[in-house]
Formats: sequence, structure tokens, C-alpha cells
Amino acid sequence: MAERIVIPGGTLDAHVHFRQPGATHKEDFVTGTRAALKGGYTAVFDMPNNPIPTVTPSALDEKRRLANGNIYVDLGFNYGGTVESSKTFGLVQDRIRALKVYMNPTTGNLLVKTDQELETIFTRWPRKYPIMVHAEGQTFERAINMARKTGQRLHLCHMSLKREIEMVRDAKNEGLPVTCEVSAHHLLLTEEDADSLPTGQGRMKPPLATSEDRDSLWENLDVIDILASDHAPHTREEKDNFEEEKGPYGVTGLETTLPLMLTAVDDGLLTLEKLIDMISTKPRKIFGLREDPRTFTEVIFGESSYVIDSKNLETRAKQTPFDGYRVTGRVANVELRGVRILNEGEIVALPQGRII
Ligand SMILES: [Zn+2]
Repeated sequence: MAERIVIPGGTLDAHVHFRQPGATHKEDFVTGTRAALKGGYTAVFDMPNNPIPTVTPSALDEKRRLANGNIYVDLGFNYGGTVESSKTFGLVQDRIRALKVYMNPTTGNLLVKTDQELETIFTRWPRKYPIMVHAEGQTFERAINMARKTGQRLHLCHMSLKREIEMVRDAKNEGLPVTCEVSAHHLLLTEEDADSLPTGQGRMKPPLATSEDRDSLWENLDVIDILASDHAPHTREEKDNFEEEKGPYGVTGLETTLPLMLTAVDDGLLTLEKLIDMISTKPRKIFGLREDPRTFTEVIFGESSYVIDSKNLETRAKQTPFDGYRVTGRVANVELRGVRILNEGEIVALPQGRII
């Protein structure tokens, strides 16, 4: 039986890539925040790995200028962590939400290679907000070791492997200030699925893993703090250019995460309380967003099923590995500071998001 549930206080996706400036043919602040709103989020944090990366005060100011007046939900910015940018942490700390450090190669050019560089960045970070880290394989352990050494709050992005979640469990048991996130595609897809997906749709960082890895995420949900979409849009043409492993990494996720996870609740894979904790209570707590009593998202779940159709997405990249998936949950209404901005799935207000 269909049930309407209000998620109070504001929802947050702390990990999205809106591609502006520099790659607005993939996404921009208008289309990205419209996708966020349709997906049920009232706040999102944009990552720094643009063609001109967000590693200087002027690059940050330019993003704020471009976003101002054009965003449908609240938008925060994560700053890129490099040895060079660490000299400017003090200048930008009041205008950013978190630091993002890349310890493995991915889209952009922000790779931090050595532990010495990493320690410089961790030591200079002013501690107000967490350090988000993209770490896979060997680098995962190095990130945890640096949190131990410096006492900094470490947030591990998009976990995908069994040994990663075991390391996070150990780190938490040890009392380290460590939190972590998981994305719906790693909870619901495996490397076997990648073969049957349309060209390029199974290609993301970290890559889809084994079914044993996927199962370990579900078995250790108590260790996982938040859900993040890692919304990383690319055009159809770019994703189809998959010959010889040349296609870009990343899939969209803002509009599919909640319907898929509400369906998982319906299927008994997790509780509604845990889902609400992972998209609302916990991310706000980790990243220091206050609960707003006039902000909420209303979802419907347990209704008759419908099919995700990439053609209907708001994102400029109208594609998803979940195209054609049957789901039983949807986002109905969103109010932001007392104003209805999404009504029965339709955007009904002009952009009134704030830069946070
Ligand atoms: Zn990402």
C-alpha cells in the first residue's frame, strides 16, 4: 500500500559534479539543481574538479557568481585540496563546506601523490569541516593513517569494496574521526552488470565491484554514514565513445537515488529510518547544516511500480545505468524555507536556492 512519508529538516547530497564552469555541455548550475530538486534534495555540495579546478579563491568566487540566482536548491562548494591550494585554506574557509582530496586518478587534475603532500594538506586544513577523500585500493589505508596521524575529520567517499568497509569499521572501533559514504550504483550494481549495460554506462570511479563486495556494503550498513549520488554527468556521445577504454568516468545519480533506495526499503533491504538518516540527518550533522523546520521532502513509497526513463530526467546528461529499472518509490513534494518548490513531482517555483 502506498505511503507518504515526510523527511523533515532538509536533505543533502554532499557529492555532485555540476561541470560549471568549463563543461556546461554536460551540466550547469540550473540543470544540476533542477535534477537535485526532482530527486528530492534541498541541498547539494559541488565538487572542485572542473577544467579550471576550484583550488583558488578566485575560482571559488567565479563559481559563486555563476550560481547566484540560478539554483533551485541550496548549493555549497567543496574546495580542492593540493599543496598549492593549502596556502589559501584560511582565505576560503567561510565560503566552502568541505575539502576534497583526490588520492587516485580520475576526472580533472588534482591528484595528490605522496604522503608528504597529503600531510601538508591535512595539517593546514582549519578543521572546521571534514576532509573528503577519493581513495581506492592502497590509498584508502593511507587516508585513514593520515587521519590517525593528524586527528583531522576524514570522510571517505564512495566506498565500493569489502576490504574498505572493514577498514572503516576498524577505524571507527579505534575511535578515529572517520565517516563514509556509499552510492546507489555500488549498492545495486556489480561488475557483471557492467557487461550488460549500454556502452559506457557501467564506467565510473571507483569501478563496479564483485557481488561479494556489493553484499558486504549491505551487510555493514551500520558502518555507512551517508548516501551520496556522486552525480557525474557526461553527454551521450561522450559515454558512447567507449572504444579502448577511452570513455569518461561517472554516471548521473541525483534523480535515481531516492526512487531506487525507496524501492530497496520496499524490498526489505534497509529500513526507512536508516534511509532518512543517510540522506538527511547524518549528512547535515557531518557537514554542519542546521535542520530547518520549514524545509522538507515528501516521498511516496510502496506504490504500484513504474519504470525509470532517462528521457524524463532533468539533468542535461539524459542517461542512467538504471534506465528501464522498475521502482516503487518517488519524490512527490519539496518545500524550501516554507515555499513549495516541487509539487507532485513538478518544479513549481523559480530558482530560490541559496549558496550555503
Ligand atoms: Zn565524485
